[in-house]
Amino acid sequence: MSGPICQPDDDGVTASDEPHECNIEVTEGRAATVGAIAVNRLVPRRTRRTVGAWCFVDHMGPAAMTPADALDVGPHPHIGLQTVTWLLEGNVLHRDSLGSEQLIRPGQLNLMTAGHGVSHSEETRGIYEGPLHGVQLWVAQPTDTRDGVPAFEHHEDLPRFDVDNGTVSVLVGNIGGLTSPARRDTVHEGAELDLRRGASTVPIDPGHEYALAPLTGRVTVRGESIEVGSLGYLGTGHDEVVIDAPGPTKVLLIGGEPFADELVMWWNYVARTRAEVVEAHRSWSDDDGRFGTVESPLARIDVPGPPWPAR
Ligand code: MN
Repeated sequence: MSGPICQPDDDGVTASDEPHECNIEVTEGRAATVGAIAVNRLVPRRTRRTVGAWCFVDHMGPAAMTPADALDVGPHPHIGLQTVTWLLEGNVLHRDSLGSEQLIRPGQLNLMTAGHGVSHSEETRGIYEGPLHGVQLWVAQPTDTRDGVPAFEHHEDLPRFDVDNGTVSVLVGNIGGLTSPARRDTVHEGAELDLRRGASTVPIDPGHEYALAPLTGRVTVRGESIEVGSLGYLGTGHDEVVIDAPGPTKVLLIGGEPFADELVMWWNYVARTRAEVVEAHRSWSDDDGRFGTVESPLARIDVPGPPWPAR
């Protein structure tokens, strides 16, 4: 911990969850597991619930996939969000209640829109053995689509452009004048920066807030080092970000218009009220058809309900 605190907050703050620099707000992720994989959860943090509409960022792996240690997340439900999957290494099979069955490889994008309700599985057993490394992100849907029909997209051909010392792949939204074909329901963007040693300037929108997460190595931005495992929040008001890499590194860039709504997030649901979550979870536990059926060899995942009563 060094330097002044940008957002003084003594409400039970822990050292790892406390911003510690005023140019860049750097927070450490926290350890979690998904299937058999260790993940580093970078968003949400107590001090940073969303970046644009991005409400969840898991950096998974790198981890070795074997017949014994597989990702293998059985069918589970979602509402009110889009899942965005991007891999650096390995393959994962996506299956969902819409009947989609899609293998995703590095450099490709899977985007599932949950709306009123969808369920899916993510599998590696019997599909892939070797290193797995990637990110799983959620985007909160806005009020006008969050109760809508579910959908799934797979994109293999994303816009890319060169910067001083690297290449930008535009996963979602518009960066540098290039627009991803992926659906977006709010004004947000995401990119992978594949950087070589040296400084690179990436154009951004001054009206949007942004964050950077190194997926390998580290970078320096505005004099602040951001290591793999950390999220560097850049705030708003800049039309470019200069990223200095000491060597080859891959960095996730996320951003967008600050998300106005207060979210209620519990388990795999993104909602606005606790009652919506209770209702969704009752539908999942009762298997009443809202979330459909996933044709997967894996067992359906269920958990006890949320720790609050329905109103
Ligand atoms: Mn999921």
